Amino acid sequence: MNDTIIEFENVTFTYDSEEGEAPKTPALRNVTLRVKRGEFLAVLGHNGSGKSTLAKLCNAIYTPQSGVVRVNGLVGDTEEKADQIRRIVGMVFQNPDNQIVATIVEDDVAFGPENLGVEPQEIRRRVDDALRAVNMYEFRLREPHKLSGGQKQRVAIAGVLAMQTDCIVLDEPTAMLDPKGREEVMSTVHRLNEEMGITVILVTHFMDEAVDADRVVVMDSGRIVMQGTPAQVFSQVDTVRRYGLDVPQATELCHALGMPGCVLTIEDCVAQIAARAGGDAG
Ligand code: ADP
Ligand code: MG
Repeated sequence: MNDTIIEFENVTFTYDSEEGEAPKTPALRNVTLRVKRGEFLAVLGHNGSGKSTLAKLCNAIYTPQSGVVRVNGLVGDTEEKADQIRRIVGMVFQNPDNQIVATIVEDDVAFGPENLGVEPQEIRRRVDDALRAVNMYEFRLREPHKLSGGQKQRVAIAGVLAMQTDCIVLDEPTAMLDPKGREEVMSTVHRLNEEMGITVILVTHFMDEAVDADRVVVMDSGRIVMQGTPAQVFSQVDTVRRYGLDVPQATELCHALGMPGCVLTIEDCVAQIAARAGGDAG
């Protein structure tokens, strides 16, 4: 099997303008991007840079006016192929409340596979497995709207898992959550990536959530303007800031202290400061 799961080749996408309105400027311009099977990719960029548009092109919600998006080699230019693509790439959106479709958690998770025409017995198994994978099995008979934000997002993730997609695209899934909910969602997503080999594309504006990604891309005005490992990207503190973003807190602190290299986590930051203090003393 090919090691590329999603491929953007020179993709330009422009939203339709209203009648009588001037044509819109492209939301994506000449985007070329290859997502590897099993990769954890973080997509960063300030508001309006094109992140959500890129996310929606990944599972054929939109199709580009020029260039091509391939998912497992498939182009979503017909309804049938778009359907096939949606069985490969699942989406989780920002607002957990907009994603609830049923009044009981397990029915909510079953909704996707039901629509795919999966056998009831198989659905039962998938729903249980999916809820266990996101640590929500004990909540299976609860009412989704009574759950916390982090729990709702984990139910939404279970809904994608139950469709057995190879890739999950999450568009700012933690933006509306408290720190505990953010942590629950992030650790769940990392576990699915590491233990189940699910490809993850995480759109986020929290820099700290990008630190553990395999690769980071930064978008600006519909273009990919930086990409590399978190250390490669965040070490360019001034460039990152020029695109309207912060660097992770630990990176910023170590940068401000004039420390060499790129520090991404508080633990590494503490270790560096300790080493430096030790060095100064000796
Ligand atoms: P981001 O997710 O990074 O904030 P988006 O992909 O949502 O960026 O938006 C990129 C550009 O496309 C912005 O200029 C935005 O105003 C425009 N845009 C987004 N959604 C729509 C839409 N449904 N109709 C028209 N323009 C849109
Ligand atoms: Mg967005």
